[in-house]
Amino acid sequence: MKPGRARKITKKFLGGFRVSLCPLWLGRSLALTLTIALTNIACSKGTSAASTSSPAPAASTATPAPAAPETYAPDSGPLPQIDSKRTFQYIKDVVAFGPRPIGSESHKKLETYITSHLKGDEVEDDAFTADTVEGRFPVRNIIAKYPGTKDGIIVILGHYDTNYPLRNTGYVGANDGGSSTAILLEYANHLRGKKREGYSVWLVWTDGEEAVKQWSETDSLYGTRHLAEKWEKDGTLKKIKALFVMDMIADADLNIEHDANSTPWLSDLMYQAAARGGVQSHFYAREGGIDDDHLPFVKRGVPSLDVIDLDYGYNNVFHHTPEDTLDKLSPRSLEIVGNTTLEAIRMLDRK
Ligand SMILES: [Zn+2]
Repeated sequence: MKPGRARKITKKFLGGFRVSLCPLWLGRSLALTLTIALTNIACSKGTSAASTSSPAPAASTATPAPAAPETYAPDSGPLPQIDSKRTFQYIKDVVAFGPRPIGSESHKKLETYITSHLKGDEVEDDAFTADTVEGRFPVRNIIAKYPGTKDGIIVILGHYDTNYPLRNTGYVGANDGGSSTAILLEYANHLRGKKREGYSVWLVWTDGEEAVKQWSETDSLYGTRHLAEKWEKDGTLKKIKALFVMDMIADADLNIEHDANSTPWLSDLMYQAAARGGVQSHFYAREGGIDDDHLPFVKRGVPSLDVIDLDYGYNNVFHHTPEDTLDKLSPRSLEIVGNTTLEAIRMLDRK
């Protein structure tokens, strides 16, 4: 890696939501990368730039992740294929509930919508009450389990709650909350009723990902912080071979970030999977440390990957605004992320 000069551009919007863009030459095959820093944000998905004075990425304190699998068995079969039209329809259904912040009626309706699509599946709740600066809220992670023949678990999670501070603005979170909910429902369709010749796959619709006031270590990731602690105590964490986070994955202009807080070998695996599908140009043009639902697991040494496009509109202008609506999204983006993730899992299964 070559060191290089960094130019910093700071843009302020949404009152205290600051984005710093630092183009860096990192000497990789992806020559020009952008490092994003979101600091003091009143909303989710903070990022910390590795090259600046920003707080150190969470990964720096993490237990070293297990070593990378060196090779993957040749995979000549057709690539896994999700039904992107059906997935897009799920987003439409979810958005029709309106804003879905924790504690709201529409949130409850969405919980019922999710579980009604999981009838006959093995479903488990991780429900608790979160103490927040805005009061106490019920939080419910919904877990669906699809058993495999190999010893170990692959987890795919994504949040279904929407931004709390924007609850009275008409904000519907089509991408941020909607796309993650939908793609997990589609993964369930893909996994249901088949004998898995591989690891067990657990899907988790996480709750309380969003901050209720201002993103911080204590005001964010309510659901996954609880779940990671629970799974640490009951021994589940040790069985997890890989954990994928789906977040904001339906932007029509798809650019999945190269997240510095994710586990490097899992990032590489995802890129290999993308290359097999010929869609690698949608991955890793930008690099930065992203704070998201994977952090509570990264901190505990679980190999984890945040699959997120945090360049939602020019300079991320649609993120956490009432502009996060269906018209910005594309079924093709869901297909790129969905097929690539399923291919990455297939590669892990065959290792
Ligand atoms: Zn958000």
